[in-house]
Amino acid sequence: MGNKELIEEISAGLADTYDRHRVVFVKGLGPWLWDVEGKIYMDFLCCYSTVNAGHCHPRIVRAVREQAGKLDAVSGAAYHEGLIFAKELAEFCGYDKALLMNSGAEAVERIIKIARKRAYIRMGIPRNRAKIIVCEDNFHGRTYGVLSASTEPHYTKNFGPFLPGFIKIPFNDTGALKKAIDGNTCAFLVEPIQAEGGIIIPDQGYLSRCKEICEKAGILFILDEIQTGMGRTGKILCGQHENVKPHLSTVGKFIGGGQIPVSAVLGDRGIIDILEAGEDGSTHSGFPPACAVGREVLRILKEERLEEKAAKTGEYLIGKLREIKSQHVKEIRGKGLLIGIELKPEAGGAKRFCQALLEKGIFCKEAHTHVIRLAPPLNISIELIDKAVGKFKEVLR
Ligand SMILES: *Cc1c(COP(=O)(O)O)cnc(C)c1O
Repeated sequence: MGNKELIEEISAGLADTYDRHRVVFVKGLGPWLWDVEGKIYMDFLCCYSTVNAGHCHPRIVRAVREQAGKLDAVSGAAYHEGLIFAKELAEFCGYDKALLMNSGAEAVERIIKIARKRAYIRMGIPRNRAKIIVCEDNFHGRTYGVLSASTEPHYTKNFGPFLPGFIKIPFNDTGALKKAIDGNTCAFLVEPIQAEGGIIIPDQGYLSRCKEICEKAGILFILDEIQTGMGRTGKILCGQHENVKPHLSTVGKFIGGGQIPVSAVLGDRGIIDILEAGEDGSTHSGFPPACAVGREVLRILKEERLEEKAAKTGEYLIGKLREIKSQHVKEIRGKGLLIGIELKPEAGGAKRFCQALLEKGIFCKEAHTHVIRLAPPLNISIELIDKAVGKFKEVLR
């Protein structure tokens, strides 16, 4: 069967909520993906930064295989040795503790719980009155608590009523943050780069100013690093570009190595451990396979210095892209290997460019309407980058 026939068969049974390229992948290795017809593609999406070390990294595959034959789920009714992952992850990111979860959205849900409980127990905010400030055009996931913080009509229009207690302010606007804080505010949650929003990078100094403002007000400053974390932007966490350590961070995506959904909330003692036994949980959170993969991802990050590669290769790629003469391009911006090519509105949207790139053997996806998002594996070679740039040139001209 070819792509077309297989897609027809899949679509007959799949309740689909995605706008997918018309391609069926059957195999991945390093920066490469193969479709069912044997055509090969360079992966410039990496499942939104979930396969930062490339597909089927041999060490990650080995970790999955070994764990699969050793110990599976044991529940939260006991400990298992892999839970030492929490300490390793927290230390690696400069925190005391990690609360382990599965998906990114679940981690952000725990942020909401922690911030609210802290508001009532520590801050003296009247019960059910706590407010969390978030930014317009954010993306923190698709569960109800998280969606309640969204300003994207497409995600929310038909799904109300939502959770109260979110105040929405413009991104990259410290004045708006100051103005929005009142006696019932308990936290400010923000992405260090709005990736889904179109690779929107705030001004240098924005994050550190936000932290100052939050500290002064006694509220939590929280960064959602689910997409930007784990080396993608050229540092382990994107906040490190400004030497900012938020009170809480969320990580996800690549921490599961592309093999198992793993996410976490990171924080210091006294904040993150405000949730007590019985107040939270999830069947698979911190289960042995997740911990085994997460531990191997940490070792790979340490030993292969993926964030340094991302910084170097990213700078090179941005430079090469900026040399392309195209009447369609408005701006090229990025940090590390999280890069956006913003097209002029009259170019007719990024989607058709992504489709043209697919035909030329580059798999990528638009972010928002007018931005081509580029997020190749962090260990991609310069030779491949050059090859890809040739194809971008053809498509953008
Ligand atoms: C992907 C993402 C999420 C949601 O993660 P899921 O695993 O899809 O639930 C949250 N925040 C950011 C910044 C993300 O990129």
